[in-house]
Amino acid sequence: MKKISLLGSTGSIGTQTLDVIRAHQNEFQLVSLSFGRNMELGLQQVHEFKPEVVSVLTKDMADKLKVELPANIKVYYGEEGLIEAAAFEKSDMLINAVMGSVGLKPTLAAIEAGKDIGIANKETLVTAGHIVTEEANKYGVKLIPVDSEHSAIYQCLHGDVEKEVRRLILTASGGSFRDKSLAELEGVTVKEALNHPNWNMGAKITIDSATMMNKGLEVIEARWLFDMDYEQIDVILHKESIIHSMVEYIDGSVLAHLGTPDMRVPIQYAMSYPKRLDLHGGEKLNLWEVGTLHFEDPDLERFRCLKLAFEAGKVGGTAPTVLNAANEVAVDAFLNGKIPFLGIDHFVEKALSSHSIIKAPSLNDIVMVDIETRRKVQTYLN
Ligand code: NDP
Ligand code: MG
Repeated sequence: MKKISLLGSTGSIGTQTLDVIRAHQNEFQLVSLSFGRNMELGLQQVHEFKPEVVSVLTKDMADKLKVELPANIKVYYGEEGLIEAAAFEKSDMLINAVMGSVGLKPTLAAIEAGKDIGIANKETLVTAGHIVTEEANKYGVKLIPVDSEHSAIYQCLHGDVEKEVRRLILTASGGSFRDKSLAELEGVTVKEALNHPNWNMGAKITIDSATMMNKGLEVIEARWLFDMDYEQIDVILHKESIIHSMVEYIDGSVLAHLGTPDMRVPIQYAMSYPKRLDLHGGEKLNLWEVGTLHFEDPDLERFRCLKLAFEAGKVGGTAPTVLNAANEVAVDAFLNGKIPFLGIDHFVEKALSSHSIIKAPSLNDIVMVDIETRRKVQTYLN
């Protein structure tokens, strides 16, 4: 029985992680969980899965929970709470499905406590990939991707020697606005942006998909997860989201991972690795029904965020930290109607161009730059 800790239990990945646990109760047991503000759903989950540790966003929420829950369930809150839930002594694996760079410190705490990590929380790898991968090596823990593209690559590689790999090819759906020109993006609404054609995800990543910052973050994520140079990572538009990504080898062979778009597949694989389990209620892929698969080169002038992410990745140091923090603030501002859709890449670029890069940042440097960038973008917004 694998004991699981889950951060972000009320989100899109979090609820699907619980679906997997519910479907395989002989394989997995939830021992700790954390959520943000969604008390109603969170409480329901606590009653169903009976974890020993629960963490919520605020002290007020924690106080309320303590009254409602039996005394043997420990309740924490805030960043400390995330760390308690992530590094809980009884757990074997952390599924980190929280949104944003707030997932960094809990991930490091879980690594130091020897837990394997199923990582959905890509912002953590973007903001501090060098530290997270170094720590994972040091403590001998596995970093198993949950992001569908990286899970696809992980499954294609299946323990292969990395020097036999020529490049990784990440597929991108193109998001809600893939068929719109730059001019047509002026004035698009939040509601339109949240309408993703292939995947049903949390709000932030859905906007990231529409700007293609999501693919940019994934390029940086792939660089760290698979120890590749940016020259070895390519992005291709593939609107059907059937091929989840590919690996090209030095002999020209290309291995691809295919499937219907269903996040439970990579979530479950991260949890059951190296085993595969039945996916209850999973749809079969019938390629003859899909008929045709399309591929296209992304236009980096149209998808400016993808270009900015490639550039920030190559510059390295604290550039990806700035890219990520500025993007988190800008996306939040767009979702709250404060800036237009095309303001997102504008503010990210502005934050990047005014930042002096720290080359080999420590954890402390990263935390400071993250805070500083958020503050700076807030002042641009005001
Ligand atoms: P959601 O917005 O649906 O869920 C985020 C979760 O994190 C919620 O449980 C939320 O709690 C919690 N949360 C948010 N902020 C905080 C905070 N400051 N402290 C504690 N908890 C917090 O996001 P997704 O599930 O879509 O995405 C999660 C991560 O997975 C992201 O990094 C995303 O990029 C990545 N990912 C998601 C995919 C998807 O299909 N959704 C695919 C690939 C990667 P609450 O709602 O209760 O406030
Ligand atoms: Mg993805």
